[in-house]
Amino acid sequence: MNVTAGLVDFHCHLDLYPDHAAAVRDAEAAGVFTLAVTTTPRAWPRNQELAQHTKYVRAALGLHPQLVAERESEIELWERHLAETRYVGEVGLDAGPRFFKSLDAQRRVFQHVLQRCAQAGGKIITVHSIRSAKSILDLVEAYLPPGRGKIVLHWFTGTKSEARRAVELGCYFSINAGMLGNERHAPLVQTIPLDRMLTETDGPFTRTGDRPSQPTDVASVVEALGHLHHLPVADVASHIRDNLRALVGKE
Ligand SMILES: [Zn+2]
Repeated sequence: MNVTAGLVDFHCHLDLYPDHAAAVRDAEAAGVFTLAVTTTPRAWPRNQELAQHTKYVRAALGLHPQLVAERESEIELWERHLAETRYVGEVGLDAGPRFFKSLDAQRRVFQHVLQRCAQAGGKIITVHSIRSAKSILDLVEAYLPPGRGKIVLHWFTGTKSEARRAVELGCYFSINAGMLGNERHAPLVQTIPLDRMLTETDGPFTRTGDRPSQPTDVASVVEALGHLHHLPVADVASHIRDNLRALVGKE
């Protein structure tokens, strides 16, 4: 049996690797449950096509906040595809210096995404929240009523009290190696309840050694979480798998 079988990479940009089809095949062969997020709804059909016949890869329908300045109008296309998927992302807000000027447009898009998801019900949404944890949680609280969808905060770097609020709102967190290797963020990860944790790579935007991370690299995240929580790696892996099961329920 494959050592990575049953691990979870809940946020990976498989379509941004040099060979998209090979990236999907590799995740499938490794048995890593991989959520293939997209940055524009234009990428959805191909992602969906490649994921459709796999056991371990699922595609998510996104409109990345960093692209909203140029692509706000693609929200219409996003909406047209929504009924085809349970998984939504990457969506969210980015209030970092480069994207701050499109924040109003980002807010319009994210609010719309939440409203449509709430209306449809049953969606699982992977959310980018750079320098905007409070706004994200405010919008989730206002537009995604409990029981109308689930949020997974990807690469969350808010404060401890924001993390607590996110837990109270029912959010999950997908943890990556970058968060655990960071002096400021590792203590935050420690406060997140184990039953709300998933793992992710955010590949190919993160690196493992001297190459872009790939889904099997979540093994190192599981290991680091084991150190952080003083738990055997196998226990962490099985917690994460249980959490994925609880999150997605029956497909
Ligand atoms: Zn991402």
